[in-house]
Amino acid sequence: MPVRHVLILGGTTEARRLAERLAAGQPAGAPPLRVTSSLAGRVAEPRLPAGEVRIGGFGGPSGLAAWLREQHVDALIDATHPFAGTISRNAAEAAAEVHVPLLALRRPSWVPVSGDRWHPVDSLAEAADALPGLGRRVFLTTGRQGLAAFAHLDGHYFLARSVDAPEAPMPPHTEVLLDRGPFTLDGERAVCREHRIDVLVTKDSGGAATAPKLTAARELGLPVVIVRRPELPRGVPATPDVPGALAWLAGLAP
Ligand code: NAP
Repeated sequence: MPVRHVLILGGTTEARRLAERLAAGQPAGAPPLRVTSSLAGRVAEPRLPAGEVRIGGFGGPSGLAAWLREQHVDALIDATHPFAGTISRNAAEAAAEVHVPLLALRRPSWVPVSGDRWHPVDSLAEAADALPGLGRRVFLTTGRQGLAAFAHLDGHYFLARSVDAPEAPMPPHTEVLLDRGPFTLDGERAVCREHRIDVLVTKDSGGAATAPKLTAARELGLPVVIVRRPELPRGVPATPDVPGALAWLAGLAP
């Protein structure tokens, strides 16, 4: 059976690029391909991918399995953010239930280089615990849903950057910076200097769009508290880039 309908679980640059490549058309002679991207609906004005788009949760693994079955999906690509662990687990469960091949598209982790002062931790709670020994003026780039973990730190200043405004609970001394990547090195240097940042907190999101903050931190000698990624569900094959996902899809065709 040729692949006729691909569902991309999206919300990332890679997911958009993949949708664009697939929606641009199939090689001559190949059967037409339906491409649907799914977004969670967290961002008020998301950048919409090419092709069909659906927005909102599926209702857990069983809801996703039902969607895959009803919409005759032949291939599922989990191109969600490395920290979107729940939807990745749901995808693994649903794909196994309805026997739809699943691939994870995960950009590689960031790797420290000489001069970096990284403090890896396993959770936002651990990141909050690490802060008192490292600095008092924090550049927090973990997204608007991550602020609650720092809400008890009333002796710290936080510059919290996110796409949409965060909601309470958040630390008492929080300044919100609404912005969306990609970010430049000059811009990140300026943010750190203007706000007299002395420690950066980030998730290990990987990718180029948000990496300049790590270079800025290195140049300025700042410590970086970096939250490690959750593991991918066991047994799910993964590729680091869009060409890898295209090759996987091509390999599914008879
Ligand atoms: P999550 O914790 O893994 O998922 C929570 C629930 O949101 C899922 O159970 C699912 O609801 C729904 N969901 C998540 N991604 C979805 C998608 N692509 N399409 C439809 N439903 C989805 O996810 P999250 O960390 O909140 O991330 C939500 C979205 O934002 C993802 O698309 C992700 O790629 C993007 N994003 C996340 C981060 C991050 O740091 N976590 C950063 C940038 C972008 P149901 O159970 O009802 O299906």
